[in-house]
Amino acid sequence: MSSTPIGILGGTFDPIHYGHLRLAQEVLEQCSLSAIRFIPCGTPPHRSAPHAAAQHRLNMTRLALQGNPAFVLDEREIRRTDPCYTVDTLTALRAELGAQRPLCLLMGGDAFLSLHTWHEWEKLFGLAHIVAVQRGVCSSHDGRPLGNAINGANAALRDAYHARLAPSPRALHESPAGAIVVVDMPALEISATGIRRRCAEKKSIRYLLPDAVADYIRSNHFYTQPC
Ligand code: ATP
Repeated sequence: MSSTPIGILGGTFDPIHYGHLRLAQEVLEQCSLSAIRFIPCGTPPHRSAPHAAAQHRLNMTRLALQGNPAFVLDEREIRRTDPCYTVDTLTALRAELGAQRPLCLLMGGDAFLSLHTWHEWEKLFGLAHIVAVQRGVCSSHDGRPLGNAINGANAALRDAYHARLAPSPRALHESPAGAIVVVDMPALEISATGIRRRCAEKKSIRYLLPDAVADYIRSNHFYTQPC
């Protein structure tokens, strides 16, 4: 394979926090990717409407990525008012980056276990690899905890997992799409929901997300209502 794989991390980023950033950094290093594209979604199809407006979520993501040249902001989804399906985003990226470039869709292990509910989810494997990140596990690439949880998951997802699971991140460099790689990272018990709740309760959000993002939230008075 001639080119280094690119990672893609989509999310509501309402707001972006150190859990997202650390996930991306772990995958960047463990899988030897060249860059990670952060793609804040416009209208998320799987959940209720975001609390902060799209432009503000975009601004917060831009602030959070400052200083890391391997982290790239991708604005393609943010202005869309129709539901943003990952399959469409990956199709567009594939057209831009060419058929041979390995693309890696990053997600938490929790998100992976509901992958079968995503629009046209089986097509995703024709467009990208999937890197599922499980939190709070000692480093190993055997995917054991996710490997256990998958037994209780949707049957088609379980079959796809067993058929596509690769023993090491090297697989991401060997073909453009189609493998599942499981990566471990130390757990950071941070969620956007928790940050919004702390804001509404007038508690500090320091050390949960970059200072620049915390300052932006404070100066714009975001998340003051209970979520
Ligand atoms: P919310 O609390 O509003 O549901 P969130 O913090 O879970 O938001 P999302 O934008 O929904 O953030 O998540 C985007 C991706 O980041 C998902 O794949 C999710 O699994 C992952 N993720 C979220 N929080 C963490 C964390 N603390 N550590 C590692 N990955 C995370």
